Amino acid sequence: MNKQLADDGTAGLRNTRYKIMRSFENAKRIVIKIGTNILTKDDSIDAGYVRRIAGQVNALLKTGRQVVIVSSGAIGMGLGQLDAESARGIKMRQACAAIGQPLLMAEYRKSFLRYGVTVAQVLLTAEVLNNRKTYLNLRNSIETLLGLAVVPILNENDSVSTDEIGSAFGDNDKLSALVASKIDADVLIMLSDIDALYDKNPKTSAQAKPISTVFEITDEIARNAGGKGSRYSTGGMKTKLEAAKIASNAGCRIVLADGRLKNVITRIVAGEQIGTIFMPKRKLSNRARWILNSAPAGTILIDDGAMRAVRNRKSLLPSGVISVKGSFEAGSVVMLNDNAKAVTSIASAQLRTLAGKHSTEIKKLLGPKHRDVVAIPEDIVIIDY
Ligand code: GLU
Repeated sequence: MNKQLADDGTAGLRNTRYKIMRSFENAKRIVIKIGTNILTKDDSIDAGYVRRIAGQVNALLKTGRQVVIVSSGAIGMGLGQLDAESARGIKMRQACAAIGQPLLMAEYRKSFLRYGVTVAQVLLTAEVLNNRKTYLNLRNSIETLLGLAVVPILNENDSVSTDEIGSAFGDNDKLSALVASKIDADVLIMLSDIDALYDKNPKTSAQAKPISTVFEITDEIARNAGGKGSRYSTGGMKTKLEAAKIASNAGCRIVLADGRLKNVITRIVAGEQIGTIFMPKRKLSNRARWILNSAPAGTILIDDGAMRAVRNRKSLLPSGVISVKGSFEAGSVVMLNDNAKAVTSIASAQLRTLAGKHSTEIKKLLGPKHRDVVAIPEDIVIIDY
């Protein structure tokens, strides 16, 4: 069960706590994710909606805040230009995204220009975020744009990313959380046709009640959340919870709200209790977040003693390695059993030889300059959602 401060004692105290959790007075950096379903009307972009978003974002910029938008809608919009019935199949989705993305951007550009605000397009693939170098480049370019008071508008580069080549996010919910985590955003506002998290699946249960505050995404919450979204969008509550888990390690709050509510962004930032807020659990270092959010290239199976050691912030030694799954290079992010992720200093082929052996064997095999551990504590992150 989520702990909802039900046992606080007085209602006054509870109210004060809620107010603090919902206070965004000091939130300087805000990521806003906008879903396809609320951006489009009759298979084309809802220009009035984009204008209203631009107005609210401009008001935030005027208070010295920085805003990044993650916008879906390219595929839906591209399809609207064709006679085709649906955007099913990877090739069709890629084509529709290529057609729709410039239309989407044109609408944002027009709306923001009314306020004299410049927008920028940034298209991402999962590969870009997995690779440490491009990950850092991306952060630099977003930082530069924000420094110039430009509003970066991000989307997945759907035309080049497919599940088949393993480079797809598949949904902008996850992408928005990764970006919010990367740029140290204070809050991620997710606007869609999902107005809140419910204690039961609202599609199947009339008694479902919205949950205002979530401190921990428990298995029960995940089970009750319901599945995928509909039509051209891919996200549903499931992907929103995955996003919340990513943000919860980055010290970033997430507010989930009905994107069609009047002045929804302004009201959330003003502290109004709208939708569901997910409170963060911890704020990991930037490198730790990169490790945690990278797709693992393989798994190192380690014994209980080694797992205890890494949990106590000790290095992973070859003596604790039982076996190795998959094929990876030194420097790759890998799983340690199911509980941790690490950057390995030894490639899979050599680690197979070194498994169970004493640390001194590392230098014998890989040369005197090599580290005598498999992973240092700074390169190990315990998965703790
Ligand atoms: N990137 C897709 C688009 O722009 C949307 C993905 C999603 O709905 O999360 O159409």
